[in-house]
Amino acid sequence: MSSETLRSALARATDTVAAAVARGALSESGRLIAAHLGAGPHLIVADENTWTVAGERLTESLREAGCELAEPLIFPGQPVLYASIENSVVIQEAIRAAQATPIALGSGTINDLVKLAAFEEGRDYACVGTAASMDGYTGAGAPMTENGVKATRNCKAPVAVIMDLDVVAAAPPIMTASGYGDLVAKIPGGADWILADYTDIEPIDPDVWTMVQSGVTTALSRPADLAAGNADAFDGLVEGLCLSGLAMQAYGGTRPASGAEHYFSHLWEIEGLGAERTPPLSHGFKVAVGSLAMCAFYEALLARDIADVNLAAAAAARKPWDGIEADIRSLFDGALADHAVRETKAKYAAGDDLVARLQPLVAQWPAAVEKLRAQLVTTAELSEMLRLAGAPSRPDDIGLTADDVRAMFPKAMYYRSRYTALDVAWELGIFDELVADVFDNIWK
Ligand SMILES: [Zn+2]
Repeated sequence: MSSETLRSALARATDTVAAAVARGALSESGRLIAAHLGAGPHLIVADENTWTVAGERLTESLREAGCELAEPLIFPGQPVLYASIENSVVIQEAIRAAQATPIALGSGTINDLVKLAAFEEGRDYACVGTAASMDGYTGAGAPMTENGVKATRNCKAPVAVIMDLDVVAAAPPIMTASGYGDLVAKIPGGADWILADYTDIEPIDPDVWTMVQSGVTTALSRPADLAAGNADAFDGLVEGLCLSGLAMQAYGGTRPASGAEHYFSHLWEIEGLGAERTPPLSHGFKVAVGSLAMCAFYEALLARDIADVNLAAAAAARKPWDGIEADIRSLFDGALADHAVRETKAKYAAGDDLVARLQPLVAQWPAAVEKLRAQLVTTAELSEMLRLAGAPSRPDDIGLTADDVRAMFPKAMYYRSRYTALDVAWELGIFDELVADVFDNIWK
């Protein structure tokens, strides 16, 4: 991965115009923020932990750049700060009182809270990230809890992002491991995009693809050094996480950064998996297990020769829509069931439409297999990478049994309209066989 990739990503991103990812980048932060967000007043929003890590140095850098500063807003370090509307409103009030441009100093939660507060106040903001814990720094939208329900609020990404590699390398190892888990999603997620491209459902945007995928292998190549907090190893990981968000901005959607592996994670999140832990089970840790599940599913899929499949017969054998809707309603409750019905309906095809969709993939299967193999790693390789990074490498690392993961496969397929390997197998009539293969033969 090169900073040239970062520059071209910034050129296409809709909100973010500047990013500094380097050792010592904190000392550049004042200059960068002044150049893109003016001389202030600026309001630093942190918690006690992130303030201790970088608050004074950020303040100093802003002062050196001639910026005016409001009194910082520092949340307590304990209990854990939640991404809730109430907390975001506290920030909004501070922005209004100081008539200031907010600067998020922290990781996921602080960034999401400031992102939403800035948006609600009609202001741009900057983010100084303190951990390589997820790819949401540069993403638009903020996942929030409101009245106990999770929903992603629309809002703009930061104008400037600063990630000092010495700071992020010193963050708690569990945070780095979470970011690693979020970045491995680009492996099966990219494979899902390849399949959506072959079936002409969502053609690959080559520039966006390069942004997200070109550096992933390098970024993931030093898991043990990342776990050890070796600052030299963080370049690729942090740039990769930033590029994911920028690619989503450029593309106008989340396809470049996520596929079915994220649906396992979202559904576990909805179930409240690991919410009682301190800290709560991270997004990246759930994504890591979702990614393992999907890499195993791909192994099962690639072991099949679908070049000879009789598509007319597969289409004829497909369950009619009523049966599918009944199946969805047996798996989900309430509003989530209605959501899954809508999402699945949007991608449902039958008869000639189904044959037409799958035909190019089946006709070019050997070429597709070659591309997918180049994109993917085996489940064994991925679990070793995750283990070395200190991330979950087996379901029980996040408190799940193999059967729990197995039961999530059909739900992950129904949950979103995005077309993935799960849909390909489902439409070909081999979904259940492949899931059985995953747990009986591949992922042990
Ligand atoms: Zn993610």
